[in-house]
Amino acid sequence: MANLQTRLRQLGSVDALLRHGEVQPWLAAYPHELVVEALRQALDAVRAVILAGGDYPGAKAVLALAEERLQAQLRPTLQSVINATGVILHTNLGRAPLSEAVLEAMQQAGTGYSNLEYDLDMGQRGSRHVHAEALLCRLTGAEAALVVNNNAGAVLLALSALAQGREVILSRGQLVEIGGGFRIPDVMAQSGARLVEVGTTNRTYVDDFGAAMGPDTAALMRVHASNFRIEGFTHQPALAELAELAHSRGCLLLDDLGSGTLLDTAPQGLPHEPTIQESVAAGADLVTFSGDKLLGGPQAGMLVGRRDLIARLRRFPLTRALRVDKTTLAGIQANLLHYLMGEALQQVPVWRMLSMDVDEIARRGRVLLDGLGGLADGCQQQEGRSMIGGGSLPQESLPTMLVVLPMGTATELARQLRAGDPPIVARIHEERIVLDLRTVLPHEDVRLLQRLRDVLA
Ligand SMILES: *Cc1c(COP(=O)(O)O)cnc(C)c1O
Repeated sequence: MANLQTRLRQLGSVDALLRHGEVQPWLAAYPHELVVEALRQALDAVRAVILAGGDYPGAKAVLALAEERLQAQLRPTLQSVINATGVILHTNLGRAPLSEAVLEAMQQAGTGYSNLEYDLDMGQRGSRHVHAEALLCRLTGAEAALVVNNNAGAVLLALSALAQGREVILSRGQLVEIGGGFRIPDVMAQSGARLVEVGTTNRTYVDDFGAAMGPDTAALMRVHASNFRIEGFTHQPALAELAELAHSRGCLLLDDLGSGTLLDTAPQGLPHEPTIQESVAAGADLVTFSGDKLLGGPQAGMLVGRRDLIARLRRFPLTRALRVDKTTLAGIQANLLHYLMGEALQQVPVWRMLSMDVDEIARRGRVLLDGLGGLADGCQQQEGRSMIGGGSLPQESLPTMLVVLPMGTATELARQLRAGDPPIVARIHEERIVLDLRTVLPHEDVRLLQRLRDVLA
């Protein structure tokens, strides 16, 4: 082996590599400094190998490494993944996948100009707030509606605009932490409203609210316990009871539904998740919910309720900071249309997954195993559960059929599945990798098979 100095000299310099024939097309295609950076990184990496006693691998190897680095710099960090976890509303994986119609609407709105804030009848400035409003009102029975960036923003906005410097009364059983640091008491503090806790962790009565109300009370609030369940000796007042109490004393009733759904979940074999229509009908003055949980659309927060309150919210300065863009509004409208047309179960991906038959999941699993051929040795199908996730139907699950991968080092296999293109995020169950096809979009089955073939080969 050549001595260290000789091997380091063989390595050459960035300048020398910039003159290399293979690098010329890169210089024509990519910004100069990105090419220089990639070459430098490659040289650094190889130098470290040589210093550790390794051989100079040759210019071709250095250039291959540089090309890899160049591609890595250009690759977006946000990329598509295959969700094989069986968690339908997986917040870390982007929650709701969108329907074709929603994507088309978003593309249309984004490609050109639109009447986002322009009144075409009058030929003058209009309001972006009108766009999803009519559909939201029709579907929920509310008088008025407002869309903001997400439900955390919707809750903060409602409290800030309607209860700043005053009291909001909430049951001790509903002082929820949603995740990502969103805690109802902190949001309350941020809004400038004063939290008044009543009742106990497990039992709160309407009289507890009544006893705590005073001249400074702006609102009673209910927060849906979206990610936990208190069982046993429990009680919470019905929303209609709270509405009656609030209104008899000149106060508001705010209802944070969290997920919010327009469709009943019971026909899917799940417990009943409170619907937005029920909250409006029960007399809540303002109801807040997410656009990308069970609604299954783009990320957004929606507020529906009394016309005068929505009008106040629109004038409140924070609203400007929470506003959504044109592509989001276009997507929300297209998503709500699926509900209006009565086609949500077929067209909204989240609902298609929720209502997918176990036999269909098992059939796709068999096709996958058949496609693996000899590589399927040690793989099998096994009954399991899919989770709803995303702050709706806590602890609830649906029966599914899992594809179980062979014994082996599950964490290593999981790493390999995540490392490729597209990355596959799976679940580990009893030290084996399991794939739940309920959350794999049907058009992704082929790519999933391809990746599995590569990893298991
Ligand atoms: C999820 C959730 C939120 C936050 O909604 P985002 O759209 O994620 O901002 C607020 N309140 C409740 C009860 C929730 O479940």
